[in-house]
Amino acid sequence: MKNKVDLLVLNGRLATLAGYSIKPQRGSDFGCLGLVENGAVAITGNKILAAGPMDLVLSQAELNTAKVIDAGGRLVAPGLVDPHTHVVHCGSREMEYGMRLAGTPYIEILKAGGGILNSVRRVRSATAAEMVAQTKKSLRRMLSFGVTTAEAKSGYGLDTESEVRMLQAVQILNRIQPVDLVPTFMGAHAIPEEYKDDSDEFVRIVIEEMLPRVKDLACFCDVFCEDHVFSIQQTRAILSAAREQGLQLKLHADELAPTGGAQLAAEMGAVSADHLLCTDKDGIAALAASDTIAVLLPGTSFNLMSRYAPAREMLAAGVAIALSTDYNPGSCPTENLQLIMALGCLKLGLSPAQVLAAVTINAAHAVNLADKIGSLEAGKQADLVIFDADNEAYLPYHFGINHSWKVIKSGRIAYDKDREEVCYED
Ligand SMILES: [Zn+2]
Repeated sequence: MKNKVDLLVLNGRLATLAGYSIKPQRGSDFGCLGLVENGAVAITGNKILAAGPMDLVLSQAELNTAKVIDAGGRLVAPGLVDPHTHVVHCGSREMEYGMRLAGTPYIEILKAGGGILNSVRRVRSATAAEMVAQTKKSLRRMLSFGVTTAEAKSGYGLDTESEVRMLQAVQILNRIQPVDLVPTFMGAHAIPEEYKDDSDEFVRIVIEEMLPRVKDLACFCDVFCEDHVFSIQQTRAILSAAREQGLQLKLHADELAPTGGAQLAAEMGAVSADHLLCTDKDGIAALAASDTIAVLLPGTSFNLMSRYAPAREMLAAGVAIALSTDYNPGSCPTENLQLIMALGCLKLGLSPAQVLAAVTINAAHAVNLADKIGSLEAGKQADLVIFDADNEAYLPYHFGINHSWKVIKSGRIAYDKDREEVCYED
């Protein structure tokens, strides 16, 4: 029996990433793209009906009313997933850029009114509508780069009402624009001014006051676990309480020093451990033996001119790796996940196929949605990006630009490069 098709993508070089919906790619599997030359994807409603060799897909599809896109040999991939963002924020912090370039220590930038506490002041005085307006612009840009799902953290409010308002902004954005957002509560992102001498009291507020208020607004809880921020003991207390409230766990771990964050993430069954610049051998071994995904953020290292995560060692040990922008106004102000793929090759030593897997199926695992997104397989959400590129190596090779030709979100064309107008008058 043939099934009615609404949208058909023909003549593509498909990177299906098929076969990894249960477990992420790791070890020698990392970078298995499941390539199909002369492939097609048939879409019914918001779901993929079939993806694979063109004749096979066409034999199952009833095309009478279908809209057809001829990919002309272009690379067709699953919609990209950006699994670590602080996309909801207010304003920007370019005033710090010159200070950073001049080598001013972060503590001095904080004293001058910059740093994360600047973002906190702005979010505390912003309405949900103001946050929605700014974030919507960022999400349009992310979509144009092929991102169809992104994680979005709170964590610039640092008081109960502002944290709730940030997550409400995410809820509104999920209704009014196409990029699916996965909400993460990160009340423990920094210690606010008013508790700088009593971080334990702030941890108590996160656990007793914030968590009960946000548990129905967020899927994940994340903590900035680092010396002089939240200790291993404080982080464990917050994550345990979050788990009791039904939230899944993530962790900003070992960004500045090897504090045992990777081990804690593995021990607590966190879905991901993120940053990991300073993770040592024991941390890598703990991640390799766990289901926790290492979400690496090379754009942050690039922008802060700091070290990079030991990705090659992680890969050799069998750690599952995903990549993300870490888009935020301080340490990584970019929505361009394709640029992060290039940095993944140049700075982390991954291959073009591996970085593509790291922003599709493995990134889907990093937000625990690999059963719905991250690959081109029958039954999955019809999220696709058609790149104006013949193959996956061209994406990081021709770096810094946007390769998206068409982005399809839930079965509908959400971005079309051909319809972007360039105006030129002599
Ligand atoms: Zn972050």
